[in-house]
Amino acid sequence: MTSNKSPPQARNDGERLFHLLMENVKDFAIFMLDPEGRIISWNTGSQRILGYEEQEIIGQPFERIFIPEDIQRKRPEYELQTARDNGRAEDERWHLRKDGSRFWASGVVTPLLDENGNLQGFAKILRDITERKRSEEQLAEANQRKDEFLAMLAHELRNPLAPILNVVEIFKQEATGKPDLRAVIGMVERSLSRIVRIVDDLLDVSRITTGKIELRKERLPLQTAVLQALESVRSLIQSRKHQLSVSMPPEAIWLEADPVRIDQILTNLLSNAAKYTEPGGNIWLNVERLGNDCVLTVKDNGIGISPEMLPRIFELFVQVDHSLERAQGGLGIGLMLVKKLVEMHGGVVEARSAGIGEGSEFVVHMRVVPEYSGRKPEDVQTHHSKTEHGLRILVVDDNVDTAVSMAMLLRLSGHQVMTENTGPKGLQTAISEKPDVVLMDIGLPGMDGCQVAQRIREHPELASMKLIAVSGYGQAADQRRCRQAGFNHHLVKPVDPQKLEELLA
Ligand code: ADP
Repeated sequence: MTSNKSPPQARNDGERLFHLLMENVKDFAIFMLDPEGRIISWNTGSQRILGYEEQEIIGQPFERIFIPEDIQRKRPEYELQTARDNGRAEDERWHLRKDGSRFWASGVVTPLLDENGNLQGFAKILRDITERKRSEEQLAEANQRKDEFLAMLAHELRNPLAPILNVVEIFKQEATGKPDLRAVIGMVERSLSRIVRIVDDLLDVSRITTGKIELRKERLPLQTAVLQALESVRSLIQSRKHQLSVSMPPEAIWLEADPVRIDQILTNLLSNAAKYTEPGGNIWLNVERLGNDCVLTVKDNGIGISPEMLPRIFELFVQVDHSLERAQGGLGIGLMLVKKLVEMHGGVVEARSAGIGEGSEFVVHMRVVPEYSGRKPEDVQTHHSKTEHGLRILVVDDNVDTAVSMAMLLRLSGHQVMTENTGPKGLQTAISEKPDVVLMDIGLPGMDGCQVAQRIREHPELASMKLIAVSGYGQAADQRRCRQAGFNHHLVKPVDPQKLEELLA
C-alpha cells in the first residue's frame, strides 16, 4: 500500500521538478487562468509560441490570444464554459501572436478543481501545428486538382469514343458473311467496350465526388435487375469457366430504385467475383428477403482479401495487389461506386473474407417497397405493361444460362415457361405443348431458329402461335429472313425486358 501523504522533502522535490518542467517545455504553451479567465502563469513555451513576455501578459484576459472573429463569436467564454461543464474543452483553431500573425493550434482547456470540487481556475495547453495544417491544405488542394483533372480527362475521352463506337457498329454490319472480319471487329469491340466502361466509371467518380449523380428511381423487381446483370457478366463468367449458382425467391422483391444504378452495383460485384477468382472457381449469388429489407450476397471462392485490406476495400483507387495479372483489372473505382450508389439508395454494403485464398463475400442490404413485395406477381401493377393473363411461353436458346434466366424473368411476370436448348427439341416441344408464344434464338445447334419457325408454320393447327426471333444481328436482312421464315416479331440481343413485356402484352 502506498500512502497518500508524501514526505515533505519528496513533495518539495516534486514541486521543483514540476516547475522545471514548465520552464523547459518549449514546444507547448502551458499557462493557467483564474476562474474569470485572466492569465496567471506563463511558461517558456507560451512565450516562444505566442511572443508575450511573462510580465506583459500576466493579469490579461486570455482572449488576447484569440483572433477577432472568434472573440466576436464569444469563443473564449464558450471554451471556459465547455471546460467547466464537460471537464475539458478541446479543439483546433487559428490563434493570434503578439505581433498580430496567426498560427494554427490544437489546444485543450482543463478546469482546476479543489478537493471540494470548487473551481480554482483553468489550465490551457496549446501546440502550434501550422505546418501540419498547411500540408493538409496542400494535400486537399492536390486532391481536388486530381478530381478536376480526372473529370476533364473522362469528358475528353468520352467524346471521341462515341463516333468510334458507331463506326464499329457499321463495320459489324458490313462484315456479315465474312467470319474473319467479324472476328477482328469483335476484338475491337471488346477492347473498346472495356475502355468505355473505364471512362464511364471515371465520369461517375467525378460526378460522385462533386455530388452530381442523380437517381432516376422507379419501382422495379430486384430479380429482373439481377437477371439483367447476370446477362451482362455472362461472357466474362463463361470465359473464366466459373460455376455460377443463383438462388432467388419466386415472389418479386420490389425496390424503389434507379435501374441503371442497381445494374451497375450488381455488375460490379459479379464481375469482381469473376475477376478475382481463379478460372474454374465458384460464384454464388443469393437474394433473400428479411422483413422490410432485401439481402443480396455475391460470394466467391477466389483469392480472398486480407484482414488489413478489408476495411479499405471501398476506398477510391484501392487495389489489393498491384502485381496481380491486370488483364481483367480496372482502376480501383468499382467498389467505391458500389458503396456510394448503395448508400444513395439508403442501403449498406459490406465486404467479408476469412483472408487470402479464402474467397470473398459482398453483402448488400436495401429497403424493399413493403406493400408490393411478397405479393404474387399477378397481383402487382408492374412498371412494365402488365400481361393480363399469364401466357404459355417456350424459350429456345442453346445458351442454358440465357434460357434459364429468361424463363425466370418471364415467370416473374406471371407466365408459364418451358425451355429447350436445341432446334429439334424446340420444334418437338412447340408441336406437343402448343405454347402461345415461342421466343427463339436464331443460332441454334441441329436446326437454326429460322428452320424451326418454317417447320412450325407447316402445321396449320399452330397458326395462332406467336413466334418471336431473338438474334444478335439487328439488320434489315436478318429481319427479312426471320419474317419470311414465319416469325411475327424480331428482337435484338440482349433482349430489353420492357420491350419483350410490351410485345407479350
Ligand atoms: P478494380 O477491380 O477495378 O481494381 P474495385 O474497386 O472493383 O477495383 O475493387 C478494388 C479492389 O478490391 C480490387 O483491385 C481487388 O483487389 C479487391 N477485390 C474486389 N472484389 C474482390 C473479390 N471478389 N475478391 C477478392 N478481391 C476483390
